[in-house]
Amino acid sequence: MHLQFFGAAGEVTGSCHIVDVGGRRLLLDCGLIQGGAAPDERNRAPFPFDAAGIDAVILSHPHIDHCGRLPLLHRRGFRGVVYATAACRDLARILLMDGAAMQQRDAERENRRRARDGRKGRAEPLYTEDDAEAALGLFRSVDYGRAFEVLPGVELTFRDAGHILGSASVWLRLSEGGLERRIVFSGDLGQYDSPILRDPEPGPAADLVVMESTYGDRLHKDRDATLVELGEILLHARSRGGNVLIPAFAVGRSQDLLYEFGTHFEAWDLASWRIFLDSPMAIEASQVYWRHPELYDEEARELLGRTGDLPPLPNLALCRTVEESMAINRIPGGAIVIAGSGMCTGGRIVQHLKHNLPRPECDVVFTGFQAEGTLGRAIVNGRDEVRILGTPVRVAARVHTLGGFSAHGDRADLRRWYAALPGKPPVWLVHGEASASEALRDALRGDGATAEVAAAGVRLDLGAAA
Ligand code: ZN
Repeated sequence: MHLQFFGAAGEVTGSCHIVDVGGRRLLLDCGLIQGGAAPDERNRAPFPFDAAGIDAVILSHPHIDHCGRLPLLHRRGFRGVVYATAACRDLARILLMDGAAMQQRDAERENRRRARDGRKGRAEPLYTEDDAEAALGLFRSVDYGRAFEVLPGVELTFRDAGHILGSASVWLRLSEGGLERRIVFSGDLGQYDSPILRDPEPGPAADLVVMESTYGDRLHKDRDATLVELGEILLHARSRGGNVLIPAFAVGRSQDLLYEFGTHFEAWDLASWRIFLDSPMAIEASQVYWRHPELYDEEARELLGRTGDLPPLPNLALCRTVEESMAINRIPGGAIVIAGSGMCTGGRIVQHLKHNLPRPECDVVFTGFQAEGTLGRAIVNGRDEVRILGTPVRVAARVHTLGGFSAHGDRADLRRWYAALPGKPPVWLVHGEASASEALRDALRGDGATAEVAAAGVRLDLGAAA
C-alpha cells in the first residue's frame, strides 16, 4: 500500500498523486502544468506510469491544473472511471473543451508560422476536442458525504472543499490483506465565509493527510473590507460617468461578482448601471452554478428564496456573440463589464481595455492574481502605456486591485481546516511554491503536527506510515 507524489509537489500546478493498493492503482487528479520552465514539454512528456494500467482517477475539482491532462491520459490508454461530483463533472466539460479549442488554435497558428518561414514539421495540439470528449465520457458522479467503493479495497468519500462549485476533499479508506489505512487529500481549499459556497468541510479521523499550501505563507485581505472598497469604487465611478471593466476568470470569480452585485444591488446603486457578462464560457459556468442550489451556503439559499432568482440582477445582459461584445464598445458610460481572461492575456476584455484604458473617467478593477509578464500585471504595476494587440495604448483610467476575492484559503484557513481533523495526523504538503509550503509546515509544526513538504517522486509506504 503506497502513495507517491508526482505533480504539484514543490510547485502549484500539475496536481497528480498515485495510490497503489491491493494490486490496483489510482490517481488523485491528473492536472496540467502551467507556467514555469517549458510547461508544454513537461505536459507532453511520458507519464511515469503506464496510463493503461491506471484503474481509476479521483478528481478533486475541475480547475485545469487538476484535470487538464485527463484527455492525454485517455489518449495514452486509460479506460477506467473518473470519479467526481456532478458539479465538478459539468464544469470540467466547459474547462476541458475550452482548453482543447485553445490547444487546437495555438497549433494552427504555429503551423501557419512554420509554413510562412519554410520550416518543416507540424505542431500538434496537446489534446483535441475529441480527446476531451472521450475523457469526459469516463466520468461518473459521486455525491458529497456518500461512502462509495470505487475499486475493491478503495472506499471514497467526497467532502466539500469550498474552493469552487463542486470542489472536494477526498477521504479514502484503503484495505489490503487485513491492513486498513485512511488518507485524506485536501484538494484546493477555499476561504471560510466565501460567497455562494459552503465552508471547507471537516471530516473524520485519518492516518495521513496530503494538503495544499498555495497561500501557506500569507493572509488575505479582509473580505468585508474588500466589499466596502468595491462598493465605493462603483459609487464613485458612477458619479464620473465612465465605464467599469472587471477582468475575471470564467469559473468562480465571475459568479462571485454577480452574486455580490445581487446582494449589494441597492447599497451600490447598481440599478443605474447596465451590467454585462461578456464571456460565453463564464455564461456557461454561471448556468452550472445556478443549476446547483443544493450546494449553496445558507446566505445564498436565503437570497435565492427571497428573490427567486440568482443572481437577482434585472439589468444583467449575457453577451454570447462577438457582435454583442463589440456593441458594448459603443457605450460611453454607465456600463460594468465582466469579461475574460482574468489576467487580460486574451479574450474579450482586451478589446474593452483598448477602448476604455485611455479614458480618465473609466475604471479597471482587478480581483485576482496577475502573473508576471501578463497585460494585467503591466496595468496593475501602474505603467502609463501598455501594448494591446501590437498598438501602444495610454493608461488614463483609474486602476484598482482588490485583494479579498481569492478562491484559496490563506494560512489561517489552512490551519483551521487541519485543526478540525481529529488527532493531528501526519501531514504532507503539496500544491505550493517552496516558500509557501515551508511556511505552512513550520506553522503546523508549531500547532503540534508532524508536517513535511512533499517532493516529486517521494513514495510513502502507507503500511509503515501509521
Ligand atoms: Zn483550484
